[in-house]
Amino acid sequence: MKKYDVLIIGSGLAGMSLALRLADTQKVALLTKHELLDAASAWAQGGIAAVLGDDDSPENHIRDTHIAGAGLCKDEAVRFVVENGRRAVEWLVEQGVPFTRDESNHSELHLTREGGHSHRRIAHADDMTGRAVQKTLVSQLKEHPNIEVLEHHIVVDLITSKKLKRSEADQANRCYGAYVLNNKSGKVLTIHARFTALATGGAGKVYLYTTNPDVATGDGVAMGWRAGCRVANMEFMQFHPTCLYHPAAKSFLITEAVRGEGGLLKLPDPRDKSKAGERFMPAHDERAELAPRDIVARAIDYEMKKRGLDFVYLDISHKPADFLLAHFPNIHEKCLSLGIDITRDPIPIVPAAHYTCGGLVTDLHGRTDVANLYALGEVSCTGLHGANRLASNSLLECLVFSEAVVRDISAAPAADIPALPAWDESRVTHADEEVIISHNWDELRRFMWDYVGIVRTDKRLERAQHRINLLKDEIHEYYANFRVSNDLIELRNLLQTAELIVRCAMARKESRGLHYSADYPQTLPEARDTVMTP
Ligand SMILES: Cc1cc2nc3c(=O)[nH]c(=O)nc-3n(C[C@H](O)[C@H](O)[C@H](O)COP(=O)(O)OP(=O)(O)OC[C@H]3O[C@@H](n4cnc5c(N)ncnc54)[C@H](O)[C@@H]3O)c2cc1C
Repeated sequence: MKKYDVLIIGSGLAGMSLALRLADTQKVALLTKHELLDAASAWAQGGIAAVLGDDDSPENHIRDTHIAGAGLCKDEAVRFVVENGRRAVEWLVEQGVPFTRDESNHSELHLTREGGHSHRRIAHADDMTGRAVQKTLVSQLKEHPNIEVLEHHIVVDLITSKKLKRSEADQANRCYGAYVLNNKSGKVLTIHARFTALATGGAGKVYLYTTNPDVATGDGVAMGWRAGCRVANMEFMQFHPTCLYHPAAKSFLITEAVRGEGGLLKLPDPRDKSKAGERFMPAHDERAELAPRDIVARAIDYEMKKRGLDFVYLDISHKPADFLLAHFPNIHEKCLSLGIDITRDPIPIVPAAHYTCGGLVTDLHGRTDVANLYALGEVSCTGLHGANRLASNSLLECLVFSEAVVRDISAAPAADIPALPAWDESRVTHADEEVIISHNWDELRRFMWDYVGIVRTDKRLERAQHRINLLKDEIHEYYANFRVSNDLIELRNLLQTAELIVRCAMARKESRGLHYSADYPQTLPEARDTVMTP
């Protein structure tokens, strides 16, 4: 058993920045499933949006965020994040993050512009911002005497007064910490904490194709839900239109700049699928390949489903080779390592789940519905993103909310932690067959892709719901009878998250932002959150 002031679950930007900001006054444990850098935060390429340019203003950034969010963003959350944006980036600069500087004025950060932003406002470190940020924070974390880092530790579940059936004087359901599986030793620890923060990231792994790292299995949403937190807007899953399709390439993004520089989307040639055939975007939108991300993703999905294709092509081989090498050196190198020469061959691509806009409902302090339990970063639903995330607002949200949580924890009265029961393994045995986990994992991700992907219908959602119910019974029985393992914990959480996505999608009888239903193509006049209460 271990005791801390604050237990932080997740080593992405949300978790690491929270740990560093708390550690001068609190004893902190930072848990992560794999190693510190295994998080979506380290994969972020573009950068962090904030109002930093002289010609920009908070009102511009607020307006852009609302437009992207399709009428569903909460104005107070948007204002809160935008108005604290500059400070958030300055904090990273103070930590020593090597942001790219303006060539003409080295004292200023270089700002790029991304789709949906009316001004240049993306601070970045070349095209590997996340890695630069996370590496800088890791080096500080490791040196801090008040932070204990526990790698290869996966949280099984949160410990709450409700689950322990303990009634508190004020009747509030409180979080006391978590049961945690040490993936190296196989032992389950009980971690006591005055405060617990879920910084567990998104749920892209619910889908067959995703740009997310393997750790993105929706654990925080599922654990928070089981603990008693409301969950909102899970139907809004952002899909990136162009992820490399290759058995040996996991989650490799082909940047949208390839389309910007003239890349064309084509069907595989029916006579020889290794060659590109007809171009299809002009039939879907007059802007063709330059249509917004969600329209392009929907068109690709439509063509793939209609024709039973596994992928389509993105072809930029008509451009001069030296132009491609100068503009896309990373993509060229990666594709070449897989036998695809982008100067001569079309690139096979699929759309892929990229960002989870919904999550655990929080207020502007990062508080969830369970006392002493916070959620921040991609696991949360603060009202910032509404029905669609504006590019590069997500890392910003991690930073602004970690500061908010620190303020709230620092102002909270000291509370005692009651004695907690140890994890009970007396009635379970070692699993006899692991195949049930791998089989169900594959099945889940495939039917979520087929039935709950980019275009939804009532019938497809009902099919998905039916399959989830069957899998739930199987996994529940398995969980009750066998020792927990990393894969079992993740599958249980993936299923729970998938169910919440399906329920939210079924509840929305319109198309808005990232949620498109062929049965309800219209957008209703009033924008409402989809809120699920456990
Ligand atoms: C390829 C890619 C490019 C992106 N580019 C950008 C960009 O340019 N700008 C931008 O703003 N956003 C970008 N995003 C989105 C952004 O990276 C994420 O939204 C953000 O990093 C989320 O940070 P986080 O701290 O909430 O979660 P993450 O960084 O995903 O970290 C989650 C952490 O929780 C841990 N964890 C999860 N479950 C458990 C458990 N049960 N027990 C213990 N630990 C657990 C994981 O191991 C991990 O350490 C990109 C995302 C991807 C995938």
